[in-house]
Amino acid sequence: MACVSYPYAAPVSQTLFDRAAVVTPGGVNSPVRAFRAVGGTPRFMVSGAGPYLTDADGREYVDLVCSWGPMILGHSHPEVTAAVQAAVARGTSFGTPGEGEVELAEEIVDRVGPVEQVRLVSSGTEATMSAIRLARGFTGRAKVIKFAGCYHGHVDALLASAGSGVATFGLPDTPGVTGAQAGETVVLPYNDLEAVREAFAAHPGEIACVITEASPGNMGVVPPLPGFNAGLKQLCAENGALYVSDEVMTGFRVSRAGWYGLDGVEPDLMTFGKVMGGGFPAAAFGGRADIMARLAPAGPVYQAGTLSGNPVATAAGVAQLRLLDDAAYAKVDAFSGRLRSLVTEALAKEGVAHRLQVAGNMFSVFFTGEDVTDYEKAKTQEAFRFTAFFHSMLSQGVYLPPSAFESWFVSTAHDDRALERVAAALPGAARAAAEATE
Ligand code: PLP
Repeated sequence: MACVSYPYAAPVSQTLFDRAAVVTPGGVNSPVRAFRAVGGTPRFMVSGAGPYLTDADGREYVDLVCSWGPMILGHSHPEVTAAVQAAVARGTSFGTPGEGEVELAEEIVDRVGPVEQVRLVSSGTEATMSAIRLARGFTGRAKVIKFAGCYHGHVDALLASAGSGVATFGLPDTPGVTGAQAGETVVLPYNDLEAVREAFAAHPGEIACVITEASPGNMGVVPPLPGFNAGLKQLCAENGALYVSDEVMTGFRVSRAGWYGLDGVEPDLMTFGKVMGGGFPAAAFGGRADIMARLAPAGPVYQAGTLSGNPVATAAGVAQLRLLDDAAYAKVDAFSGRLRSLVTEALAKEGVAHRLQVAGNMFSVFFTGEDVTDYEKAKTQEAFRFTAFFHSMLSQGVYLPPSAFESWFVSTAHDDRALERVAAALPGAARAAAEATE
């Protein structure tokens, strides 16, 4: 951990965190929120408006996390809020089919060409878990290829990323995942098509699918090299396996049709979450109709959910997606571009070696002098510089993801005023990064 002094206290957040730690493991309901990677007191947020968040101590921040992606229209967007309020007034859960589910499914099918049918679930984890089960059920095969550094939620079989090399089976990353669960997972280095080719050759007729983040954002932003996704698709087709593209993070964020809208490589199955829920728990998996037809009750592969297609979540998702037209994406892209220029300018001025890696309007800063194309390279960055950078930004009212290995997210609500506030904070943060020691 770097020697960082936390520039100011957050007494109310600290009190809440202390209370939380008594009743919740580590004081949080999702680990990265605990600030363990950067130290200090996690901010307990009480409200959000447009590009700003306000914490329990009454401090306002420019939000560059956007709830880890979903809030692409900013916080408390009036039309999304109105749709949610109207839905709540009609009732919050029926356990029956409802029109909102049809509308959300139609919206997804309309936007994303390869998705002929879609099944709604409540989280990205559920989406990837179900897609893997369906791929196994459809192909009658057990093994799954995933890439080191790609995160697909906390699905047992996908929490394997240790080990590398073609013949290496995944070792569980966490107690509680058995060797048997992780043992069907083959973990390969990202952006390495040759490794995928060798894995198919080593396990003929055994691999059900290759799952990959469409463009990874969970080891920091590490886009696929040109031809990588197309190569995966081709190798899957040649070997009778399914190509599963996880667009939980990129879906409906980097374009109207997500990463697919940018690279045009057609997956057999896709997973979605985050943006499509408008800030509520809604996610989905979908793809080729002949594969989706294997899902219960149409087919034998079981999958279900009490709150799947929840009427409030679908109302939020439909309202949000309908506002996301080409002009909205152009606005998010433009803000992201201006922000990136300011960040790189400030770091360069202080002589801080860095790489700003970009996937559409998502980006992250690696504190390294070399391009990052896989997880091994990502881990060589000087993360202690990010810690100093992060706390300087936080103390000046800019909320960044509390880890060097995460994407930054912006929204249509981010405007000149928000950018000016970030611009004012950057020189000090860049200086802190330059001066940081391990
Ligand atoms: N897949 C990707 C690419 C993700 O980024 C995430 C979450 O960050 C997930 C799956 C899991 O989604 P959730 O946190 O909704 O379970």
